[in-house]
Amino acid sequence: MQVTRLEITVQHRAPNPDPIRDALQSLPGAGSVQVTLHTDATWHGAPITGTGDAGFGRIRGGPDALAALIKHELEPLVVGTDPAFVAATHEAMVRDTEYHGTAGLATFGIAAIDTALWDCQGRALGVPCWQLWGGVHTQIPAYAMVGWLNYNLAKLADIAEQATAQGFRGVKIKVGAPSLKEDIARVETVRRAIGERMDLMVDANQSLTTAEAIRRGRAFQDLGCLWWEEPIAADDIDGYAALVQALDIPIATGENLYTRTDFARFLRRDAVDIIQPDLRRAGGPTAMLQIGTMAAAFRRPYASHGGGPVQLNVMASLSNAIYLETGLLGADSPFTLTNGCAPVPRGPGFSWE
Ligand SMILES: [Mg+2]
Repeated sequence: MQVTRLEITVQHRAPNPDPIRDALQSLPGAGSVQVTLHTDATWHGAPITGTGDAGFGRIRGGPDALAALIKHELEPLVVGTDPAFVAATHEAMVRDTEYHGTAGLATFGIAAIDTALWDCQGRALGVPCWQLWGGVHTQIPAYAMVGWLNYNLAKLADIAEQATAQGFRGVKIKVGAPSLKEDIARVETVRRAIGERMDLMVDANQSLTTAEAIRRGRAFQDLGCLWWEEPIAADDIDGYAALVQALDIPIATGENLYTRTDFARFLRRDAVDIIQPDLRRAGGPTAMLQIGTMAAAFRRPYASHGGGPVQLNVMASLSNAIYLETGLLGADSPFTLTNGCAPVPRGPGFSWE
């Protein structure tokens, strides 16, 4: 099988006038880039293609800038290759973009292409990607990220109750309000709404100093929160190592770390308890599997950043996968929860069916 053509589709989206917000940023949405790889192979007479995409929560020009990077830099490294050599193509893309910095926009592009290459492989063999990697799980416990920082206490309670009714194992809320008192009120409101048996996680999106993160972390620890996510700047490895030392509540981070190299540094330094790779910033399934396996060797659990079939396929193959992150399930959700778990997709590549 050979990749014959790379097709880029840019989707622009009008910014949401009432954007969701965390302690770091507003997220009005800015569209996405989809990569479709066409091949010379067929499956039961139909041509085999694979897709991967990268969405932008903000930065209006982001999708166009990424499309240009894919077109001019990455496409020549992919067209003509065999998807079976996806790991070699991944390394070639990482090596080539090193000149201006792989960590950043380039990794978003590498991730979309890497996803599309694996998708081609799964579809060519008629199996889900987790089956190519070896399966561990048939379902993954799921929690709902519902508590945006711009939601008042009444809205927080309401949306947490909806997550409970949908059968999630837990909910996550944003913290990092101007005062610890406000954060505590948010946690206590949600705890009342979901009851004692569900998990409750808190996420400050890099907004605090290390000293303040230790102070607030002790409070969240006493309130029984399951993990304390991104309390401080994502690249502050010294600060994270100090947090892991100072607090009993597990420190979760990784959605803003890039490539396996960042994760290697954090794991070796004992600066993270639970890793949370992001599909775009990690660099696609090839990198997420490497990162997840490396974390398993350090005996650190893996929780996803965001949901979707790619994350579920990756987690299905990782012994240390503990939790899938998703939003509330809409009417168009491809799955429902059983015992608080999302099913692992059974369709070829990264498809559901
Ligand atoms: Mg987060």
